[in-house]
Amino acid sequence: SKEKIALFTIFGGTGDLARRKLYPSLFNLYRKGYLQDHFAVIGTARRPWTDEHYHEVIADSLADLDVDDALVQKFASHFYYQSHDVTDVQHYITLKKLSQKLDDQYGLQGNRIFYLAMAPNFFGTIASHLRSENILTPNGFNRVIIEKPFGRDYATAKELNDQLSATFNENQIYRIDHYLGKEMIQNIPAMRFGNQILEALWNHDYIDNVQITLSEKLGVEERAVYYDNSGALRDMVQNHILQILSLLTMEQPANFDEDGVNAEKVKVLESLHQYTSDEVSTNFVRGQYGATDTVTGYRQEDKIEPDSTMDSFVAGKIMIDNERWSGVPFYVRTGKRLKDKFTRIDVVFKQPLTNIFQNLSAENQLATNVLTINVEPEAGFDLQMTGKQVGQGFATMPVNLHYQHDAQELADSPEAYERLLHDILNGDATNFTHWHQVAASWKFVDVIQKYWDEHQPEFPNYAPGSMGPQAADDLLTRDDRQWVYKD
Ligand code: NAD
Repeated sequence: SKEKIALFTIFGGTGDLARRKLYPSLFNLYRKGYLQDHFAVIGTARRPWTDEHYHEVIADSLADLDVDDALVQKFASHFYYQSHDVTDVQHYITLKKLSQKLDDQYGLQGNRIFYLAMAPNFFGTIASHLRSENILTPNGFNRVIIEKPFGRDYATAKELNDQLSATFNENQIYRIDHYLGKEMIQNIPAMRFGNQILEALWNHDYIDNVQITLSEKLGVEERAVYYDNSGALRDMVQNHILQILSLLTMEQPANFDEDGVNAEKVKVLESLHQYTSDEVSTNFVRGQYGATDTVTGYRQEDKIEPDSTMDSFVAGKIMIDNERWSGVPFYVRTGKRLKDKFTRIDVVFKQPLTNIFQNLSAENQLATNVLTINVEPEAGFDLQMTGKQVGQGFATMPVNLHYQHDAQELADSPEAYERLLHDILNGDATNFTHWHQVAASWKFVDVIQKYWDEHQPEFPNYAPGSMGPQAADDLLTRDDRQWVYKD
């Protein structure tokens, strides 16, 4: 049977993440049969809700799905609410009793999943109470799931990790990076290690540069308080962008599993070229959007400091100090209020050394081979090639090989959170961020952040609806290169 057996305890069960992502994902796992009779969920948060009210919230959170009402009721009946202040010991005692009761009632075999869908400053408290009140079980599995942000620099990340590690082993900790749950991000190892025609060329001899763009159209929206204490570098580069970069650049793992992939990701993240502060100023660009007649500027947004120097955009050139990637720049950029919402990776190959067709006509140029991995909104890839024009004579032209996943198939496939929850139920942390990856990523980012903290930016410096400040283009033109995606 594909049925998985577990008790979920969701800390922050009334929150945005729980309602928007976790409940729909759990429901999808339920209707697909991965969760059946042997699962239960305890939602805890401060609000004094009844189980009945909680069931209504669960049903509401599924309103966007095309669902059968009777099935929703049956699903919701597995949910229990316990009002709980995470700093109060007494509540953990109640929680333990409820957990044991549900374990007996549903036959959960001591399998426990703790989802910390709360601000990270509570993680340490929760973890230490789970240990001191003996809530972890000796007979089944115990797994803890945490969300970003994992610290705001190496020191705070280490502190957080030490707190969690006092209760959980590394192989019990699942650090979510939802980009690792996306279809086309998971496709990267398949493309690289499943295609000799790519992997044979996947190095500094044949690749000129790689570009990673995570572009957002919206502004800070309702996460302003968090965002204005974080910025784009910490919010997007330390985690998502460096994770994508590590999948693109790691050596072939001995085995395609958690240990194999983790080992190779760690190696490459520890090989990122560490900038000196002088190098930061030339290789990293920060930006903040201004206002237009119709769009509110960053500093005018609700709950943002009017003189905030926080970055809503970052672009950078990352180098890797190893043999394979020697001399190959990885240009990365991400920001809010950009032209469009999309994620793409462009792998730009070097030109052939000679163009033997040019003697026929000066117009016989060779296309630059670019492999574009479209992560979203479309999911697929494009490969730019040189071909011959149809007809008499000999003339070259650029041709594009295009592959796109079927939209319906994609719509029917699991969303990132559903995929990742399924992995957790299986005890597979391949698509999660391990501690040494986090540590190496922060050490790289800290140098940049420190330089920025010590130097005042001139903000605002980009218009909403653009692709960021001029300096982000200059970063490439200086190297005689260009962004493949331009506005
Ligand atoms: P939220 O503010 O909507 O929810 C926080 C939850 O914590 C609520 O249920 C609240 O009742 C509970 N809570 C707060 N203080 C408590 C206390 N002392 N005792 C008991 N319960 C308490 O937050 P969210 O948006 O759901 O985010 C949760 C976590 O996920 C955060 O770490 C956040 O950074 C992260 N995250 C959220 C999103 C998202 O899309 N919402 C995306 C990425 C990461």
